[in-house]
Amino acid sequence: LLRTVGVHKSYGGTEVLRGIDLDVAKGRVVCLLGPSGGGKSTFLRCVNHLETVDAGQIWVAGEPMGYRLRHGKLYELREREVARQRRKIGMVFQHFNLFGHRTALQNVMDGPIRVLGTPREQARAEALDLLERVGLAERTGAYPAQLSGGQQQRVAIARSLAMKPELMLFDEPTSALDPELVGDVLAVMTSLAAEGMTMLVVTHEMGFAAEAADEVVFLADGAVVETGPPSQVLGDPREDRTRQFLARVL
Ligand code: ATP
Ligand code: MG
Repeated sequence: LLRTVGVHKSYGGTEVLRGIDLDVAKGRVVCLLGPSGGGKSTFLRCVNHLETVDAGQIWVAGEPMGYRLRHGKLYELREREVARQRRKIGMVFQHFNLFGHRTALQNVMDGPIRVLGTPREQARAEALDLLERVGLAERTGAYPAQLSGGQQQRVAIARSLAMKPELMLFDEPTSALDPELVGDVLAVMTSLAAEGMTMLVVTHEMGFAAEAADEVVFLADGAVVETGPPSQVLGDPREDRTRQFLARVL
């Protein structure tokens, strides 16, 4: 569902991504690990087209992001078309950025109404359903400030899912949370994975990676160092670089 080929990205003179090749098949969960500054967030932002890449390609559901393929040539797409492509991707950040003056329910139903043109009653029913799925059936009328960080993050996940993405990107979704709130958010992500959502997850939660990931990718200094099933990359890494990183975080 997601394929990136030779993705390069520089800021100023500094090469932050040095040719990233990565595949996430439909229904699979890939966890991206690596040291701070290694380029994980930049890579997710490139996948989501929040950043343009300097070289390389990003394919989502068979389409090159930002381009149309015709007769073997790539043509740059207009903004509207790029927006349509980007809707295939949901993203959840470390900081949840909910609308503070809107309730949990409104936060989840607004996008479908405004962007997808979903009828209000249908959007409301789907939003209630999603909030129930993330364990917030009782808090649908609460404003973000009345919710814990973990609850806000679960609203943010529901809000992303309301747009019916094919691919979900998570960038350290639990690292801003108090430790006792992390588990509920990971549980939501685990059940999402079990339901077959395609997910690319940047996380430092090794337990989640070990249990939920089909594949772990270790990224450092803008390059993929090692890739494999969690048992291998986390349990018996091939590369010194990976071993050193794991020794520090485990
Ligand atoms: P962390 O684990 O700390 O979140 P990361 O792996 O997500 O790290 P990135 O945030 O992708 O790393 O950053 C990679 C490098 O790119 C860093 O050196 C960072 O300073 C640089 N960088 C990221 N965004 C920008 C930007 N908008 N302008 C300039 N440099 C940037
Ligand atoms: Mg980051």
